[in-house]
Amino acid sequence: MHIPSLIEKKRDGGELAAAEIEELIADFTDGDIPDYQMSAWAMAVFFRGMTAAETQHLTDAMTRTGRVLKYPKNSPPKVDKHSTGGVGDKVSLVLAPLLACDEVWVPMISGRGLGITGGTLDKLESIPGFNVNLDEKRALKQLDAIGVFMIGQTADICPADKKLYALRDVTGTVPSQPLIVASIMSKKLAENLDRLVLDVKFGRGAFMKTQAEAEQLAAAMTSVGERMGVKMSHLLSPMNEPLGRAVGNALEVAECVEILEGGGPSDLVKLIVDLAEKVSDTPRTQLERRLRDGSAWKKFISLVYAQDGDATTIENIAEVHRAPIVRPVPAKRSGTVEKMDAESIGRASVFLGGGRQKTGDAIDFSVGISGIKKIGERVEKHEPLMFVHARTEQSCESVVPLLGKAVEIK
Ligand code: URA
Repeated sequence: MHIPSLIEKKRDGGELAAAEIEELIADFTDGDIPDYQMSAWAMAVFFRGMTAAETQHLTDAMTRTGRVLKYPKNSPPKVDKHSTGGVGDKVSLVLAPLLACDEVWVPMISGRGLGITGGTLDKLESIPGFNVNLDEKRALKQLDAIGVFMIGQTADICPADKKLYALRDVTGTVPSQPLIVASIMSKKLAENLDRLVLDVKFGRGAFMKTQAEAEQLAAAMTSVGERMGVKMSHLLSPMNEPLGRAVGNALEVAECVEILEGGGPSDLVKLIVDLAEKVSDTPRTQLERRLRDGSAWKKFISLVYAQDGDATTIENIAEVHRAPIVRPVPAKRSGTVEKMDAESIGRASVFLGGGRQKTGDAIDFSVGISGIKKIGERVEKHEPLMFVHARTEQSCESVVPLLGKAVEIK
């Protein structure tokens, strides 16, 4: 196959055939197509889009680069949730152990930070020792033992997404509906699920900026999932302010610990329970109780142990990864928080070192933003709107003005 011609075909708005997509994805995964050509192709898809048939072929081709999990006969129903990505979105870390308190299996394959949004795998890796690279045999054994694993794409499971995801993160090609559909659904189809709930975000801090775009994305993913026999459901959730009050890897894990210990910010707790209800047969009151009575917390601890994490560090993870500089962003006037720009907050976190600027960049687990005021809350002049956690004076100084402007007070 002549790759430059294929890039040009997409650039000029042509429709790619199933065989062309199959070969492109297989060759890229095998290392036969360099990153620069794949980036150019992804940018062409970003601008030109894909037909429903192309999106389906892309999803199938990406799933086929790896294995689809096989479960023993009579194993419990397999359920999962996936988010399209949002700032401060740490739902998976609480939801996976919460769901696994039921008689279900939660085989969760997640991703790293993507664009302005953080990634479940990076957050988990802030727990010393936590291993997100289990092979299939070990992952299945863990499911049998505790009902849940949380891993990344591997050389055996969704290797195409592993590579393409990392490339999209740093080439401005994340907010493309077909690329998001194929990325998410190839991972979820590899999990061989019975039920999947999608958390489809829209707004400033999401890849889909409008509700209409989010609805289209939900419909596209639902049709791919249903075709493969998965019972699909979804929630559309607004993402104009960050979820919860923390953005940044270890800071977000600390917020999850608060929730698993029965507290935490109410917007985040509500979304977790709303999503759990969509895939669980357990009544809402019982799901809520499991967050308060320590059941989900115990499950989370078993998950951390099972994946080699040092569970003794979890309750003081923000101290384990304490940034040298912690500085308030003061309110310029008294009033009520009227608007929040989650995109700028996400961008600030990436800039501080919480995300990547090129593939392979190391993540700084300690940086980010904490204590973020929520829309509708009252603030007094000079009161902190949030706190910046930075590695250097210079990085701190450059994000403070951006963050001050991200909050509108009336
Ligand atoms: N989550 C994914 O796994 N992939 C995307 O492209 C966006 C969110």
